Amino acid sequence: MTHFRPPRLIILSGPSGAGKSTVTRRLLSECRLPLRLSVSATTRAPRPSERDGREYHFLSQQQFAELREQDAFLESKEVFGSGHWYGTLRREVTDGLEAGQWIILEIDVQGAVEVMEHSAFDAISLFIHPGGMDELERRLRDRGTESERAIAKRLETAAEEMSCLHHYQYEIINGSVDTAVAQICQILRDHQETHTCSKN
Ligand code: 5GP
Repeated sequence: MTHFRPPRLIILSGPSGAGKSTVTRRLLSECRLPLRLSVSATTRAPRPSERDGREYHFLSQQQFAELREQDAFLESKEVFGSGHWYGTLRREVTDGLEAGQWIILEIDVQGAVEVMEHSAFDAISLFIHPGGMDELERRLRDRGTESERAIAKRLETAAEEMSCLHHYQYEIINGSVDTAVAQICQILRDHQETHTCSKN
C-alpha cells in the first residue's frame, strides 16, 4: 500500500553560481509534485530581467527592518557582507503548506542552517554545488551579472559555504542540470511516498 505524506519544506542552497535558480526552475516545471518556490524579500536592487513579486519582493532597507521587527521572517540574513538583506517570509511558507504545496526555499547557507536548527519545520535539505571552485568561478564570470569585486566576494563566501555541506541531508553535484533535476526529483518523490505492507 502506498501512503502519501503531507507537504514538506525543501531547502535548496549552495554557493552563488552553483546553478540553483536553473535547477529550481526546471524542478518546478518537470517534477510531478505540487512544488512552489517561496519568494524571498531582499533589499538589493532588481536586475534588469527581474520583476517585483516574481524573483523577489524588492524592499527598501526601512521596509525590511519593519518586517523584521514584526517577526514576519522565518529567517533573514545579510548575505555576502554587501549590506543587502535577504529573508524568507513566514507567510510564503505557511500559506503554501496549508494549501498542500511543497515549498522550496532557495536560500543561503546561514539562513538554511537557521531554519534547520531553529524552526519547527522538518525540512528536506539539499546542498548543490558544481564540484569545484574553478568551475564555480567560471560560471559566475559567464553569467556576467556581477562586478569583479562582487565576484571576488561571492567566491570568498562560496569557500566558507562549502564547509557547511555536512549540515545538509543531500549533496547534489550539478555537473549536468538534467541529472541534478532528476536526482532531486527522485529524492523528493521518495520522501512523498511510504510503502507499507497491507495485511492481504
Ligand atoms: P542573488 O542576489 O544572486 O539573487 O542571491 C544571493 C544569495 O542570496 C543566494 O545565495 C540566494 O540563495 C540567497 N538568498 C535568496 N533569498 C534568500 C533568503 O530569503 N534568505 C537567505 N538567507 N538567503 C537568500
